[in-house]
Amino acid sequence: MTQRFTFELQATDDRARTGVIRTPRGDIRTPAFMPVGTAATVKAMLPESVRATGADILLGNTYHLMLRPTAERIDRLGGLHRFMNWERPILTDSGGFQVMSLTDLRKLTEKGVEFRSHIDGSKHMLTPERSMEIQRLLGSDIVMCFDECPALPADRARIEESMRLSMRWAERSRDAFGDRPGHALFGIQQGGLEQDLRAESAEALRTIGFDGYAIGGLAVGEGQEAMFGVLDFAPEMLPRDKPRYLMGVGKPDDIVGAVKRGIDMMDCVLPSRSGRTGQVFTRRGVVNIKNARHQDDPRPLNEYCTCPACQKYSRAYLHHVFRAHEIISSMLMTWHNLHYYQELMQGMREAISAGRFADWEAGFHAERAQGDIEPL
Ligand SMILES: [Zn+2]
Repeated sequence: MTQRFTFELQATDDRARTGVIRTPRGDIRTPAFMPVGTAATVKAMLPESVRATGADILLGNTYHLMLRPTAERIDRLGGLHRFMNWERPILTDSGGFQVMSLTDLRKLTEKGVEFRSHIDGSKHMLTPERSMEIQRLLGSDIVMCFDECPALPADRARIEESMRLSMRWAERSRDAFGDRPGHALFGIQQGGLEQDLRAESAEALRTIGFDGYAIGGLAVGEGQEAMFGVLDFAPEMLPRDKPRYLMGVGKPDDIVGAVKRGIDMMDCVLPSRSGRTGQVFTRRGVVNIKNARHQDDPRPLNEYCTCPACQKYSRAYLHHVFRAHEIISSMLMTWHNLHYYQELMQGMREAISAGRFADWEAGFHAERAQGDIEPL
């Protein structure tokens, strides 16, 4: 096993890329989808089941873990990997986005963000330095810079001011992170939908120098068309030889459109959260399992899917356990959704390697356009 963090770009097809990120805790095949394990668990899944879906890396949330059970406690218990029984790579966010989106009482200053916990109202302060400390205590393999981003739409002055603050925080994050062989620090490009602000942000990050670069401030209410508009220029502003991570994206067609535009990594709660609300992603689009049309249907969700939910259970059963609020409902549908997402990534990796991404993408859209199988 390598002891360094490296990225090897193996093939490109137009702007789409495939490669591998090597870390001491294992390889991450790109484009990669990272399931979200907010509170040291991907909800309703055992870690070995998450791995069985094909995930190479998980995402953990600094904001949630610092409040409960606290980073110090996780450190005393041997770090996040041991604590949650996931030995492969973990990426942690910086807490910045969730502090701004989950807390009401907060004060934003040059120093950082002061806020009250949404759990018990206790007072906390997150700064670039504290975020780096928490992510180090957790034992995160890929650490994200502490940043701030406004929800869209926001006026240009607010986006500009916020982006420049985030770039000053990126420098403080870099200084506080220090030299940690085998661990990576990613910078986060901001600038909303503004091309010149995105360019200024990318330049600031490249000057500081990071192991990977994220595109932040998207998937915050701007819509797919606006997001793709930014992805038409933003990835190319970032170094070609480092991983590019689009934060918080997305639906299957968002992911395909992002990979097409040169993104290497993504994360989203959607497959796991939807698994708990009865929304299932298949090659033929979204299936709502609570719909009465499934109650007598002996067929699987998807006959070609090799996940346990599709191999061993009928739509009728999944409908029943969802309606009855049985725990297995969340387990099976989360498994299926994560399996579907990883299969999507695998399909794209193979298509890029073979130089036929455009054909693959046409097939992806054609199959979805068919819609779900006809009711019985
Ligand atoms: Zn399945």
